[in-house]
Amino acid sequence: MFVSPLSRRIQIFDTTLCDGGESPGVALRPRQKAEIAAELERLGVDVVEAGPAGDVEGVRAVAAAVTAPSVAALTRAERHDLDAAGEALAGARRSRVHLVVCTDEADAVARAVEHARALAVEVQLSVEDATAADPALVARVCGLAVEAGATAVGLPDDAGRMLPSGYAAFLADVRRRCPELERVTLSAHCHDDLGLAVAGSLAAIEAGAGQVECTVNGIGARAGNASLEELVVALRVRADHFGVETGVDTSRIAAVSRLVAGRTGYAVQPNKAIVGANAFAHEAGIHQDGMLKDERTYQIIDPSEVGVRMTLPLGKHSGRHAFARACAERGIHVSGEELNAAFRRFKALADLGGAVPIDAVFEEVTA
Ligand code: MN
Repeated sequence: MFVSPLSRRIQIFDTTLCDGGESPGVALRPRQKAEIAAELERLGVDVVEAGPAGDVEGVRAVAAAVTAPSVAALTRAERHDLDAAGEALAGARRSRVHLVVCTDEADAVARAVEHARALAVEVQLSVEDATAADPALVARVCGLAVEAGATAVGLPDDAGRMLPSGYAAFLADVRRRCPELERVTLSAHCHDDLGLAVAGSLAAIEAGAGQVECTVNGIGARAGNASLEELVVALRVRADHFGVETGVDTSRIAAVSRLVAGRTGYAVQPNKAIVGANAFAHEAGIHQDGMLKDERTYQIIDPSEVGVRMTLPLGKHSGRHAFARACAERGIHVSGEELNAAFRRFKALADLGGAVPIDAVFEEVTA
């Protein structure tokens, strides 16, 4: 995919270990956080949010595990929380304090950001559930934060209430009210309560966001966060539309997806985009026929680019062509009436539901 050298670089802020760690039933140990963080570094994310400042051991473990990405710790504006974040981040090569405030804390913003500046290289200020607040107050908090030295500003849609067009309009409104935002990275953070987290994040990029906050496999509280792999692949496959790039090595996506699913116990649904077991599986006869002739027929993404392989599972919807091919791959060469009979047996087994192993078809024949 051609990407102009002048294209805008979007920062990928991974919060699998922080927002993702808030998924019900998930409790990541420091060692597991370090293991996932190391895989996120290989993936090429720009920021790894390691956890809330209170998880000192978890944040420390991540800080020790990575070198290239910034390591972020989430904190409130209270002094003791900020200091805990600074302490936990002390071993990080690039540290980021991620300060979350409500609009009614405007008076405390400047002092908190200045204090955070002394603790970390980067300071991100996010306005808690910004999309529910008065845009004029949000803009005021943003202005105070930038003046005090914040390097990034986040305007999260924490409840996942926004339609993509509404979120883009909200960001544009705040940018218009707060010209200081042009000097820092604007960050989007979407939740999937309406199934729109990725769409909202993409709309935010079109509205000028330079950073998107996301999680591997889209894990997170309730319906989860914007899925990292869906976002990155959408930006890549539709670079013609977005004209932006990320630092992510997409070939690492399958590996990090498997690791996160394993460590969290959150299995990926089979029909999930990009990383679902069926994302590149074609069972229907007409599709299998098309895919055997040209893999681009029903596939806009090259599976090898995301570290997976196309599969042609044999089932109720499969045709004779794919069946004959599967037989040949299994070392069973049949043709003519023999093939017709085997295919009829296969269809009868497939009608019972589920995938049909080739051997089962021939066991029946010889039995
Ligand atoms: Mn969130």
